[in-house]
Amino acid sequence: MTTLSAPSPLDLSEADRARILAKTARFAPPPAQFADGRRDLVGLSREELAEELAAIGEAKFRAKQVWHWIYHQGTTDFSRMSSIARPTQDKLAERFVIGRPEAAVVQTSTDETRKFLFRFRDGQEAETVYIPDRREDRGAVCISSQVGCTLSCKFCHTGTQNLVRNLGAAEIVGQFMAARDSYGEWPSPKGDTPRLLSTIVLMGMGEPLYNYENVAKAMRIIMDGEGIGLSRRRITLSTSGVVPMMDRCGDELGVNLAISLHAVRDDLRDEIVPLNRKYPIKDLIAACRRYPAASNARRITFEYVMLKGINDSEAEAHELVRLIAGLPAKVNLIPFNPWPGSPYETSTQSAIDKFSRIVMDAGFSSPVREPRGRDILAACGQLRTESRRQRASEA
Ligand code: SAH
Ligand code: SF4
Repeated sequence: MTTLSAPSPLDLSEADRARILAKTARFAPPPAQFADGRRDLVGLSREELAEELAAIGEAKFRAKQVWHWIYHQGTTDFSRMSSIARPTQDKLAERFVIGRPEAAVVQTSTDETRKFLFRFRDGQEAETVYIPDRREDRGAVCISSQVGCTLSCKFCHTGTQNLVRNLGAAEIVGQFMAARDSYGEWPSPKGDTPRLLSTIVLMGMGEPLYNYENVAKAMRIIMDGEGIGLSRRRITLSTSGVVPMMDRCGDELGVNLAISLHAVRDDLRDEIVPLNRKYPIKDLIAACRRYPAASNARRITFEYVMLKGINDSEAEAHELVRLIAGLPAKVNLIPFNPWPGSPYETSTQSAIDKFSRIVMDAGFSSPVREPRGRDILAACGQLRTESRRQRASEA
């Protein structure tokens, strides 16, 4: 008779690791190599760029030059890299490409919000939105991290789509660069020069902390001072609460954090943000209290979508204040943005006002997010669904 021994914790973690690797591979972005053998240079770390160039016999300083042209000047054409001699330009163009996603749809709202549907090399699409500040020449670029999402928050249109795949670092940086192309904001403004595209919010399609490696790599490229040079203080990552990855994000990237809270009791949050069953409110708030990049100057944003009769009572506002007491926090109240077939309605103005007043009286800033771009399929994920529907009907 053979005795079956219980799996050791080591076996378990190896099995876990294998499972995670297999899953990651299934949702991986397309390779950086084009069909003609050329390689996309966008999305490589500085070290990787140096390795690629060293492999074709280029000296170390070349990587610094090329990086500057790609990320500071915004050049996509090697023949415009005027500090590089013509034969070297030709050699680079034979082997490499400086890619951009294709803008499949660009819509500008009457309120100047601009929404892009970007199509990547394998035909997959994701949404990016530029939201200008009404008062100043600056604005936020809302970037997607995945095509679809594995999580199924009940009020979210993207949550009705399955996860198709993760976006690669090139595709994440590419959304920002292509949005900049659209506004002609190159070379990258330096120091105090005003920037139209002045902040990034990772609040588009997908859960950024379920695609952490690619998101982190993309943000490091964007933060690099010799290129785009956007400070970590100008980047906000929004998560539905992937607790173990929040610690890593804080330690390694130090960007601002936004939490999609949306409910103050586990029974309700389990239902509308199903990830709560894995990481309940108590654990989520504890992770916020540990978040190293939070301070009074850099508060954690709690996003709270206002759903009529579901989560918008005064009692819930008081409970919210109790939950976040002592945290450097602000609360962003988001009027629910309805989409066809959505199971909820937006809270009444009076419910939103009362809720906001309670939060403000407790000393937290509590802005109500203005609905923007209502005339251009504004709910996240809608543009992609519409584009797929159109393509299906044309096929
Ligand atoms: N997956 C991440 C980031 C993308 S969602 C997250 O969930 O945080 C960005 C924000 O938009 C989240 O707070 C999300 O809950 C909110 N949101 C999604 N659908 C919405 C809708 N229909 N109306 C209002 N807010 C919505
Ligand atoms: Fe995914 Fe965020 Fe939408 Fe939830 S709210 S389904 S986590 S994109």
